[in-house]
Amino acid sequence: MTMDTAARPPLTIRMNERDNVAIVANDGGLAAGTVLASGLVLRERVPQAHKVALADIPEGGEVRRYDVAIGRALKPIAAGSWVHERLLEMPAARSLDGLPIATRRPTPQPPLEGYTFEGYRNADGSVGTRNILAITQTVQCVAGVTDFAVQRIKSELLPRFPNVDDVVALEHGYGCGVAIDAPDAVIPIRTLRNISLNPNFGGEVMVVSLGCEKLQPERLMPPGTIPLVDERNVADIGDNAGGKLDVVCLQDEAHVGFMSMIESIMRQAEEHLERLDARRRETVPASELVVGVQCGGSDAFSGVTANPAVGFCTDLLVRAGATVMFSEVTEVRDGIDQLTSRASTPEVAEAMIREMAWYDAYLDKGRVDRSANTTPGNKKGGLSNIVEKAMGSIVKSGTAPITGVVSPGDKARGKGLLYAATPASDFICGTLQLAAGMNLHVFTTGRGTPYGLAQVPVIKVATRSDLARRWHDLMDINAGRIADGDATIEEVGWEMFRLMLDVASGRQKTWAERWKLHNALVLFNPAPVT
Ligand code: CA
Repeated sequence: MTMDTAARPPLTIRMNERDNVAIVANDGGLAAGTVLASGLVLRERVPQAHKVALADIPEGGEVRRYDVAIGRALKPIAAGSWVHERLLEMPAARSLDGLPIATRRPTPQPPLEGYTFEGYRNADGSVGTRNILAITQTVQCVAGVTDFAVQRIKSELLPRFPNVDDVVALEHGYGCGVAIDAPDAVIPIRTLRNISLNPNFGGEVMVVSLGCEKLQPERLMPPGTIPLVDERNVADIGDNAGGKLDVVCLQDEAHVGFMSMIESIMRQAEEHLERLDARRRETVPASELVVGVQCGGSDAFSGVTANPAVGFCTDLLVRAGATVMFSEVTEVRDGIDQLTSRASTPEVAEAMIREMAWYDAYLDKGRVDRSANTTPGNKKGGLSNIVEKAMGSIVKSGTAPITGVVSPGDKARGKGLLYAATPASDFICGTLQLAAGMNLHVFTTGRGTPYGLAQVPVIKVATRSDLARRWHDLMDINAGRIADGDATIEEVGWEMFRLMLDVASGRQKTWAERWKLHNALVLFNPAPVT
């Protein structure tokens, strides 16, 4: 049992020796008059995770955390004061011109060999961590009917196929009432296509369509995109080599009555369940993991405990030859120079700048900037602005060179550390990482969120012991032990790595899986709706 840090001596955490603020680690914060280990006396109460000035800061002076200016003081701040967001003026975003390009050459870390997990090998070479029948939908109109069918598939068919973990309808809000020929419509369409091909679904694509929608099944899954699972689903050979597209179209004249639709979906599901059920887990190297990392409901501890532990684990995964994606454009925008300098080639840096410029323009069109990101909960949790939040978010990417960039909705190609350009919105980021081919998800939270996905296991990491204690049956890892002094970043990083192999193998379920907590798929649609 971890000791309540409220009862501990005053503890503050400074991220860099050049920082002039530190954050209060103790549960419940520290009272005015508290004497810190350095001898500094608090002039006022400072809540947990909030910043205290370590030195006098003049008006206009830089407030530094992570060795970065997170803002300028709007008035003089005396040492020992609470430095909250109302005292700070946020710096302008770094220009995308003149950035350092592939300048850093991190010392290569030794490969990590011998780590494996039990996964499902797919015909396309990818590996699943779960064995799920996913039912693709072309349009929201069919969601109710598909859901009805899924309930019956689960109760009547699934018990006969014990090797299949679940049946999941890929429900979304897209498909009609949208400007489908707009250039940016490519994003939601390819997102949906690539999610249908996620490694956890074994290449068994089946589609429920309405009939009159803009997103026709052939547009969603053109010839050649359906994997050839075995001789039973052959559609084309030659240039269009691939499996046949199984579509249940509700407006088909053959359907008389609702039950005809339901039975048709169930009949098709049964064929796919039979093939999925015949699959078995086999031992595969850890390099087959495709891990998406993100954070949500962040606080000032996110960048001190959970995210650095994720960053350490990211390095372990890269050393093991795996693929790791970090995302959340607005949460890395302020650290763009750190990223372009870490790119493995100038092309990777240019691709990153291109994605950032696209997103700057997207935000600009909506007459906001990256500062629209922070939430009331972030600020209550001690994060003054997006610059401070970004510095804490970016550490999830660890220290490896960045070897690739994934555009929104695209599939990840290649191993190593990839930047997947997605919004920071938890649901949209998770949805786009699913499309990129993620087979395991890691999610850090300080304020607390019960986030989960039906399509892949989500390992949730608490940034504070207080949250981990209260949400003991929702959080999989407590990184708050780092702030308590009970564990190191390296220890929690290794614990995460081992848990990933257990969860990927199906030996262990995450809390979100045990409670069946699933959030909606939310497609990123920057194109107009009609
Ligand atoms: Ca997020």
